[in-house]
Order: sequence, then C-alpha cells, then structure tokens
Amino acid sequence: MEKLQNYIGGTLQAPVGNQYLDNYEPATGQVYSLIPRSDADDVAAAVAAAEEAFPAWSALSNAERSKHLMAISNRIAERLDELALAESRDNGKPFKLAQAVDIPRARDNFAFFATAILHQEDEFHNMGAKGFNYTLRQPLGSVACISPWNLPLYLFSWKIAPALASGNCVVAKPSEVTPYTAYLLSQICIEVGFPAGVLNIVHGLGAEAGQALVENDTVKAISFTGGTTTGARIASIAAPKFKKMSLELGGKNPNIIFDDCDLERAVRISTRAAFANQGQICLCGSRIFIQRGIYEQFKNAFLERVKGLKVGPPQEESSRMGAVVSQAHMEKILSYIDLAKEEGGNILHGGKRVQMEAPYEGGYYLEPTVIEGLDYTCRTNQEEIFGPVVTLTPFDTEEEALTMANSTEYGLACTIFTQDLNKAHRVARDIHSGIVWINDWLVRDLRTPFGGVKNSGVGREGGFEALKFFTEAKNVCFNY
Ligand code: NAD
Repeated sequence: MEKLQNYIGGTLQAPVGNQYLDNYEPATGQVYSLIPRSDADDVAAAVAAAEEAFPAWSALSNAERSKHLMAISNRIAERLDELALAESRDNGKPFKLAQAVDIPRARDNFAFFATAILHQEDEFHNMGAKGFNYTLRQPLGSVACISPWNLPLYLFSWKIAPALASGNCVVAKPSEVTPYTAYLLSQICIEVGFPAGVLNIVHGLGAEAGQALVENDTVKAISFTGGTTTGARIASIAAPKFKKMSLELGGKNPNIIFDDCDLERAVRISTRAAFANQGQICLCGSRIFIQRGIYEQFKNAFLERVKGLKVGPPQEESSRMGAVVSQAHMEKILSYIDLAKEEGGNILHGGKRVQMEAPYEGGYYLEPTVIEGLDYTCRTNQEEIFGPVVTLTPFDTEEEALTMANSTEYGLACTIFTQDLNKAHRVARDIHSGIVWINDWLVRDLRTPFGGVKNSGVGREGGFEALKFFTEAKNVCFNY
C-alpha cells in the first residue's frame, strides 16, 4: 500500500518513528494509503530546516519570491485533473467540484499572493520639518500553518502562499483525514525546484504532530483553520508564548429570506449554500430563516430542488453530493439528526444514510436533510453539525430575524435575500458575522478580509490582511 511521506528540507522522508496511520477513501470506506504518524522529532527537524532556509529566502526580492510561487501555481494548473481526482478520492467530494473549485482555487491562491507582493506599498508618515516615519514589514521567521479536511488543498494553500510570499519559511500540517493533495504539493515543490526547507510538510495527528508544532518555541506564528474547540486549545498553548495567531473556526451561519426576495434565486442559492460539499463548508447556510408570508412557498420549492440532488459515488458525473469525510463524522451527523427528532423537529426530507451498491457499499453517504419545527434556541439550531443538514424557521419581522440569526456563539458568515436595498444593508450592518453575502453565497474575491467574530475566530485572512499577519511592523522614525 502506498505510504505518504513528510517533506522536510526539500526531500521526502519517512517519519522518524516509522509509524503510520490508515488513510480511508470515504466513497468506499476502505483504507487506500498510509500517512506518516509524525511526532515532535519530525516537527523539530522541519522547524530546523525552515530556520536554515530563512536567511536566504527572506533576503530574496519580492520579484524573485514571486517567480518561485508562480512556478508552483503553474504546476498545479498542469496537474489540475490529477489533483482533483486525488482530492475527490481522499475527501469524498464530487470530482466535478474539486475540478471546478478546490484545485483551481489552490492554483489561484499561489498566483494571487505571488502577484500581490509585486504591488505592495509600505506606509510612510510625514512629520514635516521634524522628520518622518516609515514602516518596515518584516517576515517573522518560521511559521506554522494547520488546516482542516473539508477543503484540503484549497485551505492549505490559502495559508501557505501568503506566509511564503511575505518571506517566511513554513512548517505546514494538513489534516490527517485528507493528507493526499498536500503530499502531491510536496512532489510539485520538488518538480519545480522550490528552494529546500522553505516549505516543509509534516503529516500526522493533531494532538501529536499538530500540538508539537504549536508548542515549538521557535515557531513565531500559527495560522489555524479548524474547529472552535481545537482553536481554544491551540490558543491556550500559544498565547502564553506570545505567538501571533490567526484562528479561523466553526460556524452556524444564518440564511435570511425576506418576503420581497427573488424567490427562484433564493431557493437555488440556498440549496447550494446548504448542501455544497455535503454541507461541509464552514460558510454553509445551515439555518434558513424565512419570512412567514412566503414560508410555504419557499419550503415547497426548496424541497423540490433538494429532491433533485443526487447522492452518489464522487467520481460519477451525475453525483451532486458525494460521501461525507469519515465514518466518525457520518455518525456525528446522524446523531444530530436523532437529536433534532428528540427536540421535536419534523424531517421533511432525508435523515438517513444512503446505502450504495458494491464497490461503494461501505461508503459514508447521507441524504440531504431538511428539518422544520424547531425553536431557534435548541441545540440543533445552535451547534455546528457540519453536514448535509439544514433547518427551516419562519419569522415575522426584521428584528426577529436578527435576534434569531445572532443567537448562536458563532459569527462567521450570513446570507440575506431581499430586493430592498435599505433593508439589505441595514441587516448586513447589524448581523454579528465577519462575512455577509446579499442575494448570493460563497462569491469570493481574494482581496477581501475573510474571518469570523465571536467563537468563529480571531483575525482575518485574505489580501493584504494575510500579508500583514505574516509580517511584523517596525516603525523607523527619523528626525532631521
Ligand atoms: P479540527 O479542529 O479537528 O482539525 C483541524 C486541524 O487541526 C487538523 O489538521 C488537525 O490535525 C489539527 N489539530 C487538531 N488538534 C490539534 C492540536 N491539539 N494542536 C494542533 N493542531 C491540532 O477540525 P476539522 O474537523 O479538521 O475541520 C472542521 C472544522 O473546521 C469545522 O468546525 C469547520 O467549521 C472549521 N472550518 C473553519 C473554516 C473557517 O475559515 N473559519 C474553514 C473550514 C473549516
């Protein structure tokens, strides 16, 4: 069986302890490769390699670093279909989705930050006759990038690219649930002659390799995307060491449908927002609030559309939804559906595992699930499920919609459907979230700030926000 390897100091290496973890294919439930079970020794070797590479990498001009990153981007483009197939196999997402979204976005992440640094300007504060200040933005040194399983290469590269572009060396840990495309990225780095030690990729469990990386005293900053509980754990270790932290955490995003919306559009986009990637996107609109006057109309049209979402093997052209990522995650989602029933929810559609025929009979397939009749304060409506489960809740007034939408501990994203310009911007202003879409969902401009409020995280990624995070500002004051 294929054994993945760590990428340290420019070479592919077995883990020091020679231990491996099983890597499952969600479509079949079978183990298909082995992942290094790295420990603190592997992390120490990766950090040492990063430290050694840092002086030369940080001394390069932006234009030179840009060329290195563009080479990675171009090679991702050349291997796009192969990467998409690997992502689909590793994660369970439809191949078409990986081909249209995940891998193009990974390619674009490298290209975006490779070119962003060509347009960077530094701040200058003039004091007139007295003198002036200028701000140097200097790279931090060795930084950690830790990413989740839902958008594997997409989110991995979203962190790595700005860290490298701004002159840092990186030790990155992909999710142990979906390590494969990170492994292919290490091959790509070797193919394009990326400088040794500048990017290091260490595989393994969060509590072992991940935590060793967070605890490592040489690592200056941690860019983390994952669950809120893990984020709190990482913060408790890194904060006393005064490391910089960017934490992109969970969500329970409201999707507010006003009665003056374009209903066809609201139904179409809400379906995608609820079930894209089997509902495993931090931005998914999992709580749909519908103004009472159009509740039945929206519900019927939405259900009609959901019935048309074919669940099937990820590589089949007709599959709109593939498998969820793991057996444990499937069981967690099913337990939430049971909880919703206990809490008095009425399952309007779905609610069960889908049994496929051989060779997919062991795969983790779930029906898209629509639930109504729950109070907005119940656990099903407050806790992140992170699967193909959505609730429908009626509301009467704008004020009530805001109360319900803002009631969770999370504050990542919100979607608003209305044709009333004033109302749209008023609700966008008053909603507690870092990201708002009006009459759309998951439209991304990589220049914009990305992140959440409350328990959805601390800090912002995207555009110059990310480049600022990965640098330290130093003010130099000159007196004539
Ligand atoms: P997770 O928190 O279990 O794991 C994320 C990463 O952290 C993995 O690489 C894991 O190995 C590592 N990790 C786990 N414990 C660690 C520790 N003690 N120290 C260091 N690293 C550790 O999350 P997941 O299940 O992989 O991903 C799903 C979660 O991610 C959901 O809550 C989802 O909302 C969130 N997410 C957020 C965003 C965002 O941008 N806000 C994007 C995608 C996913």
